[in-house]
Amino acid sequence: MPAGSHPVWGLVRIRVYCAPMSSCYDLHSHSTASDGLFAPASLVAKAREEGVAVLALTDHDTTQGLAEAHLAARDERVVLVAGVEISVTWRGALVHVVGLGIDPANPALAAGLGRLQDYRVWRAGEMARRLERAGIPGALEGARQRAGEGQIGRTHFARFLVAGGHAADLKRAFLRYLKPGRPGYVPSRWAGLEEAVDWIAGSGGQAVIAHPARYGFTATRLRSLLADFKSCGGVGLEVVTGTHNPSEVRSMAELARRFALLASCGSDFHGRDDGWGQLGRLQPLPDGCIPIWRDWDLQGTDQGHAKSARLG
Ligand code: AMP
Ligand code: MN
Ligand code: MN
Ligand code: MN
Repeated sequence: MPAGSHPVWGLVRIRVYCAPMSSCYDLHSHSTASDGLFAPASLVAKAREEGVAVLALTDHDTTQGLAEAHLAARDERVVLVAGVEISVTWRGALVHVVGLGIDPANPALAAGLGRLQDYRVWRAGEMARRLERAGIPGALEGARQRAGEGQIGRTHFARFLVAGGHAADLKRAFLRYLKPGRPGYVPSRWAGLEEAVDWIAGSGGQAVIAHPARYGFTATRLRSLLADFKSCGGVGLEVVTGTHNPSEVRSMAELARRFALLASCGSDFHGRDDGWGQLGRLQPLPDGCIPIWRDWDLQGTDQGHAKSARLG
């Protein structure tokens, strides 16, 4: 795509001046537009404080936070990558596909995300009915209040359960009530893998399998996922994420090499209540990985200022 063809969302490719330091890239994060605790502008400010030069906001199934984040990024001199994290059902399992450098105005992407948002609203009601049958009333109101203007998800239910004393922390709330087989869980019907990749790629973005070691798949199943993903047009693997240990990082780097996937890194920062990744605190990509940002170029976009400010 020619540089500057999206005057607002301009970022498609960034020419990288801070390579090979991958720590200045954090390409997976959440705001209050989904289940993060920071509003988009505060998240961008925090990214700058943490030394992040290139930040992707990747809220679950929504691009609602991008406009605010984009404005803040101009003030904070952070490069904002327009992103999203799409919920996918693949062979009955939940898989997350991150899109980087998307155009949120793309009609097919917007319509696809709209469908998932409608499903989330229905699922929230169904989760609350199930929790009520398990002896916990008021969950819909509690979760809605915590989601505010943002899109509702299981994390908001988990925060409600913790506040009500039903679980000591978010992890235990998921374990006890919200994971498959638990009383508040609703079997999911998210996007298909191919659909999600099409929405992302069709809007000019790069599709990346998020936190691959977190699914608990066997090595064989993970290879099947990557083979399917490649054949749909997926291009990236999140080799480094807040929850990957050093040995997982090494094996994911090896998988990226085997499947000729570009390597991404992102904290998956949500705030401070889930004990997961911290913004900008990332292990480096192992040698031999081809970074997903290899061919990015900010020139000719209105984000170009950040290059001289942070990357030049
Ligand atoms: P949803 O997309 O609404 O089904 O919620 C998925 C989100 O729940 C993930 O993105 C995480 O933020 C959060 N989550 C899932 N499992 C856990 C867990 N065990 N502990 C804390 N948060 C979790
Ligand atoms: Mn989340
Ligand atoms: Mn995820
Ligand atoms: Mn995430």
